[in-house]
Amino acid sequence: MPIINQIADYYEEMKEWRRHLHANPELGFECFNTSEFVIQKLKEFGINKIYTGIAKTGLVAIINGKKKGKTIGLRADMDALPLTEEIDHNYKSRVDGVMHACGHDGHTTMLLGAAKYLADTKNFAGQVALIFQPAEEKGGGAGEMCKEGIMDKFSIDEVYGIHTLPGSPLGKFETNSNTVFAASDDFLINITGNGGHGAYPEQTVDPVMIATQITQGIQSITARNINALKPVVISVTQIHTGTAYNIIPETASINGTVRTLTEETQELVKQRMTEICNGYSLAFNGKIELIYNYGYPATINYEKEAAFAIEVAEEISGKKNVDGNAKPDMGAEDFSFMLHERPGAFLNLGQGNGPGVHNTKFDFNDDLSPIGASFFVKLIEKGLPLN
Ligand SMILES: [Zn+2]
Ligand SMILES: [Zn+2]
Repeated sequence: MPIINQIADYYEEMKEWRRHLHANPELGFECFNTSEFVIQKLKEFGINKIYTGIAKTGLVAIINGKKKGKTIGLRADMDALPLTEEIDHNYKSRVDGVMHACGHDGHTTMLLGAAKYLADTKNFAGQVALIFQPAEEKGGGAGEMCKEGIMDKFSIDEVYGIHTLPGSPLGKFETNSNTVFAASDDFLINITGNGGHGAYPEQTVDPVMIATQITQGIQSITARNINALKPVVISVTQIHTGTAYNIIPETASINGTVRTLTEETQELVKQRMTEICNGYSLAFNGKIELIYNYGYPATINYEKEAAFAIEVAEEISGKKNVDGNAKPDMGAEDFSFMLHERPGAFLNLGQGNGPGVHNTKFDFNDDLSPIGASFFVKLIEKGLPLN
């Protein structure tokens, strides 16, 4: 596997950074120590254009090449998850109930490795914008950094990002030239009926019955309104109501999540949910309110930039280890906000067998760090060639 030699030499050092980050996880926008660590490392590499405090703890660092040219943005996320780690290694999380279970410690490390190399060699024409963001898991840190104007401020022309993928062979890249991750929305349906004695339902408007009808009605959207070839997930995940076996309650509420791959499907789901709620309201004489919250949009790669990233990935891992037609994932990624502002591509990168992300036994594979860093470097040297 042609990892860049100089980056292979960083292996032990990168492992140390990664394990330090792993032991000291932080949540959401509160990545204070993590960004401090990143800043300290960037300064050690001789990078002095560092812009901090973006989306609270996010930062952008700029490296200029040997000649002028366009600007490529490389992104890493820094935040952890509210989980209790269940494996006992010597770099186990030192923060109760918080752990790096999504590999963002590794993403930060890979980008730091690339930064060290690029700051040392500068064999490119243009600028690299290193984007370290907080709050990928919750809060949409990428979107907040965009709102604070990083794309214009740093004249970023294209953006790229990678995510570790457990269960896929080490070093295998997976992506496509269209949708890679779904849009993730959530909803709340508040039902107000008219409570009363369980023995006299005729004197009530029963919100429990309405809630169960709506739950079933919603499932008909996937089965009867959306083309069978268009992926969509609608999951009702919570129903809250009632206090006793002989009381028909006054209210009920339903929560759930909607995952779609296109805006067209997303809008159709929202429209049908609204119609179903209105219909049941009329049919059962209850008051029904639908609150539909748009979450992360779908992560949609740009064709040209995805093709370029695939070419680079093939140089690093070999053609056999790159799947450029990977199926979209129904999970979500807030990198989508960056792709709303600039062309670019997002890739998954296999880290070998083991527990999946968001599992309390997950651990980032340190062998992946030099591969990811080499990919970022090749993106720059090939995308911003000196000659
Ligand atoms: Zn995650
Ligand atoms: Zn993640």
